[in-house]
Amino acid sequence: MTRKIVLFGYPVSHSISPAFQQAALDHCSIGAGYSAREASPERLEEEIGRLRDEEYLGANLTIPHKERVRSFLDGVDPWAEALGAVNTIVKDGGRLVGHNTDAYGFLRSLRERAGFEPRGASVLLLGAGGAARAAAFALSRERAASLTIANRTPGRAELLAGEMRASIPAVDAIPLERAALAEAASAVDLVVNSTSIGMSRGEAEGHTPLNSDLIRPGVLVYDMVYTPLETPLARAAREAGAMFVGGLWMLIYQGAASFELWTGTKAPVEVMYEAGARALAGKG
Ligand code: NAP
Repeated sequence: MTRKIVLFGYPVSHSISPAFQQAALDHCSIGAGYSAREASPERLEEEIGRLRDEEYLGANLTIPHKERVRSFLDGVDPWAEALGAVNTIVKDGGRLVGHNTDAYGFLRSLRERAGFEPRGASVLLLGAGGAARAAAFALSRERAASLTIANRTPGRAELLAGEMRASIPAVDAIPLERAALAEAASAVDLVVNSTSIGMSRGEAEGHTPLNSDLIRPGVLVYDMVYTPLETPLARAAREAGAMFVGGLWMLIYQGAASFELWTGTKAPVEVMYEAGARALAGKG
């Protein structure tokens, strides 16, 4: 029997997960097909129920289902619990268990792509949405020493900072403005962009959240944006002589974690990255 893995989203056609997950399944000679399925919020419960059939190995979820799906599952892992969002469903015997692999993907890409160890690090986090939340929780679990959260809407940065204060020794919230960013960026080891600034077709396409003169040489710059692959922040980081990791690596490592949960097989991350980059190029 060919097993199935499904990605549920609404819409879902933009996703490159089918390209890199199928490449990984084929590379590892696993007889399974990964496909995207558009499911409206009204149909989600029925679709999740179908995963109980033997032919399904599991599923991924993307916008807008990551929060709501929880009520249709039998349990969630500690990351999904902490983040309040599920991106992967794994079958454990007859149970459907929700996982969140975003924070893990972020940490593993930091370590494997840049050799960066978050323990004791000082971090400037740009953004305070869902992606920023995953990064902040990951950094708190790995015992970062300080976290400064900069956001366009200061109240959202304050809220996230408030959640982090119990687990990170020094936490600050600042506006996403040049003077405040200049001061914060002068003393950090890692800058993470989790805003959508620079994203293709977004309202701030072509912009960088941090100019090169505010980036210290030797710092690590991590951009969660991956369309385009070479973002304006990537160029700013290179100009400044900083190290850089692009967001496609986070996407690939969160997918690799899902793949390993479904199949019990080590994910071929380089194969997945190549397939993901090709799919992005194909989508223009
Ligand atoms: P979200 O929850 O909607 O948060 C968006 C964030 O971007 C907020 O902090 C928002 O600030 C900020 N923002 C948006 N437009 C802005 C602008 N023009 N100027 C300044 N700030 C702006 O979205 P998300 O899920 O966190 O995703 C954020 C980005 O990360 C997206 O580009 C997404 O593609 C990327 N991402 C990548 C991965 C990966 O695996 N690489 C995973 C998740 C997300 P306000 O609070 O002021 O609105």
